[in-house]
Amino acid sequence: MASAVTVEIGADGIAVASMDLPGRPMNVVGDALMSGIGQATDALADATVKGLILTSSKADFCAGGDLDAISQWTRPEQAFDVTMAMKAVLRRLETQGKPVVAAINGHALGGGLEIALACHARFVIDDPKLRIGQPEVKLGLLPGGGGTVRLSRLLGIQQTLKIIGEGNDLTPREAKAMGLVTDLAADRAELLAKARAWIAASPKAQQPWDAPKFRFPGGDSRSPAALQLLAIAPSIASARSWGNYPAVQHIMSAVFEGGLLDFDAACEVESRYFAACAMSQQSRNLIAAMWYQLNAVRKGASRPAGIAASKVGKLGILGAGMMGSGIAYVSARAGIDVVLLDTTRDAAERGKAHAQALLDKAVAKGRVSSKARDGVLSRIAPTTRYEDLAGCELVIEAVFEDRAVKADVTKRAEAVIPAQALLASNTSTLPITNLARASVRPANFLGLHFFSPVGKMPLVEIIVGAQTSDEALARGFDFVLQIGKTPIVVNDSRGFYTSRVFATYVMEGIAMLAEGVHPRSIEVAGLQAGMPMPPLALQDEVSLSLALHVVEQTRKDMAVEGQTYREHPAIAVIRKLCEIGRVGKKAGKGFYDWPGESSGEKRLWPGLAQYWPPAAQQPEQRELIDRLRFAQANEAARCYEEGVVRSVADANVGSILGWGFAPFQGGALQFINAMGVRRFVERSRELAERFGARFAPATIVVRQAEAGSAFAD
Ligand code: NAD
Repeated sequence: MASAVTVEIGADGIAVASMDLPGRPMNVVGDALMSGIGQATDALADATVKGLILTSSKADFCAGGDLDAISQWTRPEQAFDVTMAMKAVLRRLETQGKPVVAAINGHALGGGLEIALACHARFVIDDPKLRIGQPEVKLGLLPGGGGTVRLSRLLGIQQTLKIIGEGNDLTPREAKAMGLVTDLAADRAELLAKARAWIAASPKAQQPWDAPKFRFPGGDSRSPAALQLLAIAPSIASARSWGNYPAVQHIMSAVFEGGLLDFDAACEVESRYFAACAMSQQSRNLIAAMWYQLNAVRKGASRPAGIAASKVGKLGILGAGMMGSGIAYVSARAGIDVVLLDTTRDAAERGKAHAQALLDKAVAKGRVSSKARDGVLSRIAPTTRYEDLAGCELVIEAVFEDRAVKADVTKRAEAVIPAQALLASNTSTLPITNLARASVRPANFLGLHFFSPVGKMPLVEIIVGAQTSDEALARGFDFVLQIGKTPIVVNDSRGFYTSRVFATYVMEGIAMLAEGVHPRSIEVAGLQAGMPMPPLALQDEVSLSLALHVVEQTRKDMAVEGQTYREHPAIAVIRKLCEIGRVGKKAGKGFYDWPGESSGEKRLWPGLAQYWPPAAQQPEQRELIDRLRFAQANEAARCYEEGVVRSVADANVGSILGWGFAPFQGGALQFINAMGVRRFVERSRELAERFGARFAPATIVVRQAEAGSAFAD
């Protein structure tokens, strides 16, 4: 097999080593790449070779660790040995006494950045789309190739904890500003020219940490600044993660302990903590959901096969409110021409102004150039005239949540758009099959359920109505990918998938209040369960009156269908609060008192105790956490059983990206798998006995427990 790194020695005595892992679209760190780098290092032994430039022939520099390999490990020794071997290769590269320069032509992430850190200088192409960083923590890991050791010696302990502990990517300019890279280059030619010039000017390059008088920038772990940080950083981190992300603690240990040790010992300590991360259930869950399942979802596992790929060139949006303007923004950023229609010119212009505000912010942060901003804005055409929709391949309806208004705009749009165009509703609650009745071509009608704020939320739920064709679904799917979002496919049913399962979390929290659980314990349990927001605060954000409105609508709809609505115990609480005018954040009062803009933090309303006095005997926190998690997992299982959600990957990925279900659990169904289906069934039965039939385990899980199987696609 061809080597993963090819080396060419130029007439100037500079060797250019290009990483190009055979058979893979990106360079990933593994045996093949590391042995290629080892061979490139050998080139430095030649007395005529003056130095080495390490770059890549692929679009990226190096995307990070080989997760396929990592997921195969079963013993911590494997993780330890592999990372120690990687470190030996990189150590040899940086200690040959000759200059080695990383010429970073594309993304340098995770192990890719660690390779670059083992070079004496780093030059990067100044492309705002290029990303540099150590995102391992997002998969429950830490950099195992010397990243904690070299970064802390290059930038200091505090900066390192930020980069590795938060895992956020940097643009080339951000990396330059913090001293992570030596300089920027306009293009590939300049990149190589600067690297060559650096080598020529630094014939005896040495890493700062190998100099006899080396000191950590800002001091090592014994310095007063580091000791102060050490005293508070772990508690701040666990206050944020509630102890659910062991990688965060391991990162701190590796960095602080590494800051007391010599280079080689620090490398060994890092590998031990890496092994602990790699063996953790949290990391396995994160890799399964946020890597394998997310990739499967994005590669189209739920997209009907055999339908040609499509692209939208011109998009119509009906309603330029909060959702419509957000959809216009993300679509125009993806290069699509957008016609943004509202009832008045002012409203349509306001929608465009929303996109402008978001783009201005991105320009100020250096993440978008002003030229690119102007280009995006020129693609959004505000209007009040339906004729302007002519030629749209897709129209998304985002007007008020009202059947009659939606039916009216559907008819008017369909009168002008091409016969084969799609019409998608962004409704959050109305069944798509019903809305499609207003359409003259229901096969082309579907739901595209975006989340708010559209610019940030990565998921779109595609809702398939009774008459939606496979072709329409496939084209909707392609559009969601085109705008850089992740599509999951959901069958038409009340609450679809995400709203239905998410509601069980909030409702369970509210039901606890009615039972006399102290509201603060409820809120803390939500965060301990790994949810991004506690249940009572969330209901305030969403609005209590809206929840009540949806309940009443559901009750009516079910009566029409001859079904009886079973009221959740939380509803009585919501009704009571609405009666006394505490309808949520918009009103400044709900479960919380919400101060205006400037007057401080929200506070739980003390009056809750008058209506729902806390019981003398409070339940264990463990039980509250279980209830919040089981309520969601069980409902997700029911959705899968009923075919509301069609695949395990969609269910897991949708739960994490849609409503923030604890990512370290790997998603709502993986939660059941990881704890063991039998245990889940037993505990669900206990909870059902004490708190009601809503906890009775879904039939599918009971069957799996009997058969010894689990959720799998
Ligand atoms: P919004 O009130 O902010 O915006 C609705 C817009 O539609 C307004 O600008 C209004 O002028 C316009 N409009 C009303 N009637 C119209 C008509 N006949 N023709 C053209 N424009 C008309 O509402 P929103 O929050 O953007 O919600 C829009 C839709 O998206 C609703 O169906 C809602 O259920 C759904 N949705 C909302 C959220 C959310 O978090 N807000 C999330 C997902 C889905």
